[in-house]
Amino acid sequence: MRISLINVAYLLASLLFVASLRGLSAQQTARQGNTRGALGMALAVAVTLGALLAPDPEGGAHAMRAIRPEGLGLLAGAIGVGCVVGAVLAARVAMTSMPELVAVLHSFVGAAAALVGLATEIDAVHGGMPPEVAHHTEIHLGVFIGAVTFTGSVVAFLKLRGTLGSKPLLLPARHALNALLVLGCFALAGLAFQEGGTSRVTFLLISTGVASVLGAHLVLAIGGGDMPVVVSLLNSYSGWAASAAGFMLGNDLLIVTGALVGSSGAILSYIMCKAMNRSIWNVVFGGFGEQSGAKPAGGAAGPAKAVNETNVEGAAELLLGAKSVIVVPGYGMAVAQAQHAVKEITSLLAQRAVKVRYAIHPVAGRLPGHMNVLLAEANVSYEIVKEMEEINEDFGGTDVVIVIGANDIVNPSALDDPSSLIYGMPVLEAWHAGKVIMLKRGMAAGYAGVDNPICYYDNTLMLFGDAKASVQKLLAALQARSEKTAA
Ligand code: NDP
Repeated sequence: MRISLINVAYLLASLLFVASLRGLSAQQTARQGNTRGALGMALAVAVTLGALLAPDPEGGAHAMRAIRPEGLGLLAGAIGVGCVVGAVLAARVAMTSMPELVAVLHSFVGAAAALVGLATEIDAVHGGMPPEVAHHTEIHLGVFIGAVTFTGSVVAFLKLRGTLGSKPLLLPARHALNALLVLGCFALAGLAFQEGGTSRVTFLLISTGVASVLGAHLVLAIGGGDMPVVVSLLNSYSGWAASAAGFMLGNDLLIVTGALVGSSGAILSYIMCKAMNRSIWNVVFGGFGEQSGAKPAGGAAGPAKAVNETNVEGAAELLLGAKSVIVVPGYGMAVAQAQHAVKEITSLLAQRAVKVRYAIHPVAGRLPGHMNVLLAEANVSYEIVKEMEEINEDFGGTDVVIVIGANDIVNPSALDDPSSLIYGMPVLEAWHAGKVIMLKRGMAAGYAGVDNPICYYDNTLMLFGDAKASVQKLLAALQARSEKTAA
């Protein structure tokens, strides 16, 4: 009876997670999606804790084992510390550092799955239980995925943070090395099964080490430009790792939740790959095509090229004279936290009957949906926020495009320079507009580290300065001019 009550609660939590994903699929319902997810998680934790504290004596093989009294303090301490650290980190993290935080969280899931596998094996050996095919496979698979996720996520964190360079590590025969490491883990699982005794744990530990090397190597081989996909791919791996832990612990909810995370992460990776025109295998195994001599376009030392510079007054005049304006936000807008002032500008222009829209590139910023979140925070109407495929054709008929702290996502060399590292990635074709105003602090490259020819185009005007400062000055200039015309 109790088991079925627990199952009903687990089912309810699973449904809440599915409803949460549904809500998160659109900006308008994203908040509700988050609430449903939080409710589902609260229910899952409460039911699991209840089952742990008061296990069902007649629950049979699937009932959760009672926690030992000495474990209670440890559990409470771990939950307490976890809640405090999680809350503080979530409250303090800047939106621009989100991918790093996400990578760290993925590494926790991977480490947890690997540790659950190791603990389960140690438990079985101490209990004198011989290995059983299905359970043995679950343990080795869970530890394998967990260890790959853990070290892969740690390397991704270091790369996103800039501690490790974004250049891919291209060891000779790296694909053969990866295959060898995977085969090594299979062989160790087979040996552990055959041996059956206490050295099962030793084999599992060696296998954990081998899988850890594989995880680190896989992500080290991935170039900076592909990091957005890596983040979502590790998200998917962490889901499968949680699912594997669910199998090891006989916890249905963990299996379902892990599968939801794993499959939604895989779908997101596919979407991101499509947005960047990369094949998923190309990203997973990294470094493909790097030998083709791809280089930072125009990155070599040479005479500095001339750009057309403008000032706040010039930019304000252009905007006020325009009938249609598209705003392209990028990472720099997020760093500068300029979204509120940008919204003020677009509202002012809309009041003057200028047709204003925002163009969002799928990999703008540093995490999927980064710009959508910032614009939603600034209360920009969803109706004027357009995805790349909805708006790319409209640049040609637009008077002014204002690019705010974006670089790679408006780089024409992605379309016309096969030697560019980002060649093949679809970009926002802003240069087709009458005028392009680029707001940047200087001539630094974007995340992919490649030069951007759009800065040197005749119809591009550079407005140098911190995005927030520039946008605020631009807003003041627009307001002053609007008042003058109204008077
Ligand atoms: P980019 O990283 O290409 O360019 C950002 C530009 O903003 C820089 O050139 C910088 O130039 C400028 N900038 C930085 N700070 C400021 C500031 N305070 N004020 C004004 N300008 C500033 O950003 P994009 O959004 O165009 O492209 C995103 C890139 O990030 C892509 O390469 C993508 O692959 C990658 N990426 C995306 C992820 C995702 O999930 N979205 C995850 C990981 C990577 P300057 O210093 O001269 O001001």
